Amino acid sequence: MQDGGATRVLVLGGTGEARALAARLEAEPGVRVTSSLAGRVRQPNLPEGEVRVGGFGGADGLAGWLRAEQVDAVIDATHPFAHVMTGNAARACAAAGVPLLVLRRPAWEPRPGWHLVTSLDEAAAALPALGERIFLTTGRQGLSRFAHLDLNFLVRAVDPPDPPLPPNTTTLLARGPFSFDDEVALLREQRIDVLVTKNSGGQLTSAKLDAADELGIPVVLVQRPPEPPVPAVSTVDEAVRWIHDG
Ligand code: NAP
Repeated sequence: MQDGGATRVLVLGGTGEARALAARLEAEPGVRVTSSLAGRVRQPNLPEGEVRVGGFGGADGLAGWLRAEQVDAVIDATHPFAHVMTGNAARACAAAGVPLLVLRRPAWEPRPGWHLVTSLDEAAAALPALGERIFLTTGRQGLSRFAHLDLNFLVRAVDPPDPPLPPNTTTLLARGPFSFDDEVALLREQRIDVLVTKNSGGQLTSAKLDAADELGIPVVLVQRPPEPPVPAVSTVDEAVRWIHDG
């Protein structure tokens, strides 16, 4: 415990859960929380309280930051697919002797008929056999994996994706949550015949899955990367309790 008796907590963010957690911890007496963002999104939804933006310089850089800032605890509330940051946090906290908890929303339960793949490359390889008008909701990173495909892509992302992109790409700039009715309308208007998504989990972006099932549209689901062996919880309440009990 440092900082005049306050418990110093670093929240690795970039998700709705991380923002909710920062707001809860910010309201706790005796806790000083700093949220960290990678800086990928141009106009991020900023968490309450102190925020720092940008990488730490790998696991060594983060370990150095934890020591210099005298951090008492780290909560990794990054997106389930931010596996580089999650691995770095595990190594850095072990090296610096700082307790680490992962806050991760539960994955979506795959439904019968969905095509489960383990990478964007595998998703791309599956597409030609499945359809021609593809709704790609895997985020703006990694779209080069689809660039060789002569199919029609509707890409939905928060910020414009960087090239290379597939030759026939329409970009829809939008940030969730999205409703079931709007997702059904979009899939119909765009005559989508395949949906590709990461297994992000959570309620904010799950309506597209129900909409695809309603319309009989095949879903290609990219499974989550493996997690390091670090204690994990799935709710903000549990993460707040961990800080209290720690
Ligand atoms: P990543 O591949 O796991 O991380 C790449 C590098 O970005 C890390 O090594 C680190 O740089 C920096 N970084 C990542 N998250 C950071 C954070 N919260 N604070 C400071 N630096 C961070 O990460 P990513 O998949 O690009 O995701 C970047 C951010 O977007 C994350 O905060 C994540 O929660 C959010 N996000 C990701 C996705 C997704 O699908 N991947 C979706 C929604 C939101 P250094 O090595 O220099 O420290």
